[in-house]
Amino acid sequence: MYDLFLYHFYCGSTSTSNLDYDIYFFHVSTGGGSAGCNTLYQLAKRGVKAVLLERAKVTAGETWHSSGLILQMRLSDLEIKMRSSTRSLIGGLHKETGIDPGWHNNGGLYVARSKVRLDEYKRVNTLAKNFGIETQLLDPEETKKLFPLLDSSMIKGALYCPSDGVVDPTKFCKALTTAALKQGAMVFEDCSVDRILVGTNHFGVKMIEGIVTSKGVIRTKCIVNSAGAWASQVANLAGLRVPVLALKHSYVVSNKMPSVVGLPNIKDSDGRIYFRVKGESLCMGGFEYNPIMVEKMPEDHAFTLFELDWKVFESHMQQAMEMVPSFETAGVETTVCGSECFTPDLKPLVGEDPRLRGFFHNCGFNAGGVVLGGGCGEQLAQWIIDGRPAVHMYPFDIRRFTPEQMENKTWCKERCHESYVNNYKIYFPHDEPLAGRNLKQDPFHEELLVAGAVFEEEQAYERPGWFNPQGYAPIPPYDWYGAYGFTRNMDKRYLNLLKGDRTFGFSKHHLAIGSECLACREEVVLMDFSYFCKLYMVGPETQKAADWLFSADTDVPIGKAVYSCLLNKRGGIEADLLVTPITSGSGTQADPIFKGLGMFIVAGGASASQTRAHIKSVLGEEGFEVDIFDFSAKVGLLAVQGPASREMLQPLVDCDLSDELFPYSTSKIIRLGGHQVRAMRTSFVGELGWEIHIPWHSCLPVYLALWEQGKKFGLRHAGYRALYSLCSEKGYRLWNSDVRSDDNPIEAGLGFSCRRDGGAYLGKEAVEMARQEGIKKRHVFLTIADQVPLHGLETIWRDDRIVGYLRRGEYGFSLGCAIGQGYVQDPDGKLITDEFLTTGKYEIEVMGVRHSAKLHLKSPFDPHNKRLHGIYDEPLPVREAFAQ
Ligand SMILES: Cc1cc2nc3c(=O)[nH]c(=O)nc-3n(C[C@H](O)[C@H](O)[C@H](O)COP(=O)(O)OP(=O)(O)OC[C@H]3O[C@@H](n4cnc5c(N)ncnc54)[C@H](O)[C@@H]3O)c2cc1C
Repeated sequence: MYDLFLYHFYCGSTSTSNLDYDIYFFHVSTGGGSAGCNTLYQLAKRGVKAVLLERAKVTAGETWHSSGLILQMRLSDLEIKMRSSTRSLIGGLHKETGIDPGWHNNGGLYVARSKVRLDEYKRVNTLAKNFGIETQLLDPEETKKLFPLLDSSMIKGALYCPSDGVVDPTKFCKALTTAALKQGAMVFEDCSVDRILVGTNHFGVKMIEGIVTSKGVIRTKCIVNSAGAWASQVANLAGLRVPVLALKHSYVVSNKMPSVVGLPNIKDSDGRIYFRVKGESLCMGGFEYNPIMVEKMPEDHAFTLFELDWKVFESHMQQAMEMVPSFETAGVETTVCGSECFTPDLKPLVGEDPRLRGFFHNCGFNAGGVVLGGGCGEQLAQWIIDGRPAVHMYPFDIRRFTPEQMENKTWCKERCHESYVNNYKIYFPHDEPLAGRNLKQDPFHEELLVAGAVFEEEQAYERPGWFNPQGYAPIPPYDWYGAYGFTRNMDKRYLNLLKGDRTFGFSKHHLAIGSECLACREEVVLMDFSYFCKLYMVGPETQKAADWLFSADTDVPIGKAVYSCLLNKRGGIEADLLVTPITSGSGTQADPIFKGLGMFIVAGGASASQTRAHIKSVLGEEGFEVDIFDFSAKVGLLAVQGPASREMLQPLVDCDLSDELFPYSTSKIIRLGGHQVRAMRTSFVGELGWEIHIPWHSCLPVYLALWEQGKKFGLRHAGYRALYSLCSEKGYRLWNSDVRSDDNPIEAGLGFSCRRDGGAYLGKEAVEMARQEGIKKRHVFLTIADQVPLHGLETIWRDDRIVGYLRRGEYGFSLGCAIGQGYVQDPDGKLITDEFLTTGKYEIEVMGVRHSAKLHLKSPFDPHNKRLHGIYDEPLPVREAFAQ
């Protein structure tokens, strides 16, 4: 957040005069393409003094040659939201600015060559209803009626979105900048950003101070990197590396085909191509396996195209001719080969860089910078002004990458290549990248691999997803999908297991995962949580900082573990974690030496970089006298969970594990197998169990001791697929799905973690307001008796009206049914009440079919927490049902 002082300056046209502003500009956008123009427009609209600097002319980079397709449908709530925001913006821009953005509403046809693709579109069709976007599923003949040139024998059906269309990107940017100029913004063309000035504040935080351009210096505290394919070069000016890669991307334009006039555009994802109708021509582009990488973008590349390489492009011609046979006879009139900025996970790079305050990114659009530009520009403007965006943007937020990922060029290159290749992939609930694997492994990796672990990659770490009873499946080196002369990997063990997950039905590994879940509920399992975030907060103001950061009361006895949320000023949940007050110890990584009070903070691994960034940003803002030490990569973490955990662990440790001497939610330094560790009696699965924090060098011996001892108790390994199922069944929330930065704790059903007394904390005012005035959405659990899987994003119906969608879906193996978590809203916009929630007929729509559902305010599994306290006097619901 920055102090705003408004500066209205009318500049009737873009300027080429000299720039020497020793005045303060609130915001400087580097790069005048879709991203820069949208950001400028949104900031100016909000009264912010903003300036756009463009090395050449506005749109000269990638934007001018874009196909301008506005296709809103993707199997992601955030993608749909951002894309439809751009669509709405374009729709209203002519009226608002008097300038025609060149909008043509000819609709979008998403054709499916395979059944599984049609399943994906059925899921999208269900999700789109939540955003009020009309879509229809069509059979091949209906599709052909809309696009008669199509060979309907090639397809199984299509999804049709009538509100899709195309925009003229140059006119769009002209409308945006003209509107921004009228609001007082400034645009400087032929003005390159040559240096970024960085300073350090008195808390040691690095901050933007200004910018040196070819036309002079500007003092500013906020710069947006909207430099498209040049984004990494601009980041380098600030001494930073960002995970993006420029790749060439092309389309060809057909000779005249008069019969295409007025037809919709086509996305043929299985053929890896798209068709855009442009007057009497068809433009056709695609995403090949062997794209050309551009290591460094030429600085003088303005309104310029690259030469199209037919050897690279030719595979698309075949696909295009299959889908639209007349495309072959029409022939190609011209080619367009541009460059585009790709990221390692196909999502844009947006938001403030956690390494440099005031340095925002709005780049990495993966060939979607026009359709995503409006939505992202709007959110970024709010981010700059309010400190956080209005929408939960984490999937696009630069914070999702770890420092290791950002620094590793090879990793980035592999993953960006795979992003390009997979741009039109099907979004399966469990799929894994093949590129850039094995970047970080924990000390248990080899043991777990041999035990059959099928690894998943999260935050650069390899974590065990599930354990394959048929033996081990190592991840082979990246084979670039056979491109660039690489031979495809012969070892297909890992790939074949991934294929078992490529369905929207039950995974082939469903039963294997289920048996891990039941082993946890009935015996005992070992889980590797080593990639979790583990921080120590120490210093003279530790309690003061904890009081401000954490919503829960952490002024509790030493060793007591407290569950807390971390909020933003709007009360949105930025992280949730366990925090334990500790005192100075003996000097091991699990028991460090420091002065006074310390806080040991443990947070989930999947959002570890977000948790760290949030904590550091809040502490940096407030200037508390504390230090944060990150021990995540120095301390391993094993969880022993299940009814037999105490009996199994007791002979290995030097302390009494009874309820009296080691109660639930407490933590102690103990010796296990002769090694000093921190044991926490806690559970993310809802069972009796301990989480054991182990100094790195002791990890292997402790693991071996546990495994040897566990043999007597039927100890089994369990992975993250089991963990997510178990925790959802128990009613625990995962950050980034069940709770997010746009949910407050009252909405999330986590009011218990927000103290009423005990002074202020960040976000308290918003929480208290929600308590007093009520809320408009509420977190719920839904179960369905029909044996169909829930994967998240399914629509929730109440009395035949849509009231929300599932954020996450799992199969509850102990409940014997699928269980989802989501938020329910009153469709009439009223405050939500328990009466509204607990009455009415609920259904969940799965791929177009509605299944009767039961709503629960609390998860139905072990609602009284007996199992956490070691009380096992009730059979599992699934066993009970089986016995009857
Ligand atoms: C062939 C092709 C077809 C496409 N089709 C579509 C489509 O149908 N729909 C869609 O949504 N997207 C499409 N895209 C992607 C889309 O064009 C881009 O994502 C989008 O234009 C990116 O906009 P941008 O503002 O990030 O980058 P750019 O438009 O490249 O703008 C960046 C600007 O930064 C300037 N700059 C760089 N360095 C500096 C510096 N140091 N100082 C000052 N200025 C600097 C550059 O001159 C440039 O003008 C397509 C891309 C290609 C290549």
